[in-house]
Amino acid sequence: LIELENVVKSFGEHRAVDNVSLSIRKGEKVVIIGPSGSGKSTLLRTINCLEPMDSGTMRFAGKPAGYVQRGSELVPDKPRNICALRTRIGMVFQQFNLFPHMSVEQNVMEGPVTVLGESKANARATAMDMLGKVGMAEFADRYPASLSGGQKQRVAIARALAMKPDLMLFDEPTSALDPELVGEVFDAIKQLAVDGMTMVIVTHNMGFAREVADTVIFMENGSFLAKGSPGDFFQRQCEDPRVQSFIDKIF
Ligand code: ATP
Ligand code: MG
Repeated sequence: LIELENVVKSFGEHRAVDNVSLSIRKGEKVVIIGPSGSGKSTLLRTINCLEPMDSGTMRFAGKPAGYVQRGSELVPDKPRNICALRTRIGMVFQQFNLFPHMSVEQNVMEGPVTVLGESKANARATAMDMLGKVGMAEFADRYPASLSGGQKQRVAIARALAMKPDLMLFDEPTSALDPELVGEVFDAIKQLAVDGMTMVIVTHNMGFAREVADTVIFMENGSFLAKGSPGDFFQRQCEDPRVQSFIDKIF
């Protein structure tokens, strides 16, 4: 579904994403772990075209994404095309970023109505459907301020899903939550996994990685230090002392 080749993203002298190549097939669940500052968020933001890359290529559903080749040069694609790609990728952040002045239902309807031009009736039906998927249908008329963190995050997931994305990116979706609320959010994400959604999830929750991931990637200093199936990863790859010491720290 998505292919990155030799992607580099620097901030000044610092290479936050350093020559990363990654191919994700439809339905694949990729979990990325790694220390703070290793480039995980930057990589997700690059995939979502929130950060322009310095070099490298990205293809989405077989087509160049975000950039077009002009002669020997790589030039940014027209903003219109970048936006079109973004609507096909849903992103959920650590902070929920719900619109505080809108009800739960309006939050989920907003994208389909304003970006996709859906009718309100259609968008409302989709919103209720997606809220149902994350167990939040009965909260449709509430406002974000009256929800718990876990409930807000589930609404944020429903809002991303309402755009009918082909790919979902999660950047530490549970790290701002109290421990007792983590489970409900992971359950919602697991349900998406069962439905066959293609996903990239940055998380340090190893239990979740073991249960849901097809592929686990360990990132350090902007590149992939280890990559494999959870089985491989937690046994063979972890013989790498740097990966092992990191995993020991977060358990
Ligand atoms: P964390 O686990 O703390 O979220 P991360 O793996 O997501 O870390 P990134 O946020 O991708 O790491 O940051 C990678 C590096 O790029 C860091 O050194 C960071 O300081 C730097 N960086 C990220 N965003 C910017 C920015 N907008 N301007 C300058 N430097 C940045
Ligand atoms: Mg981050």
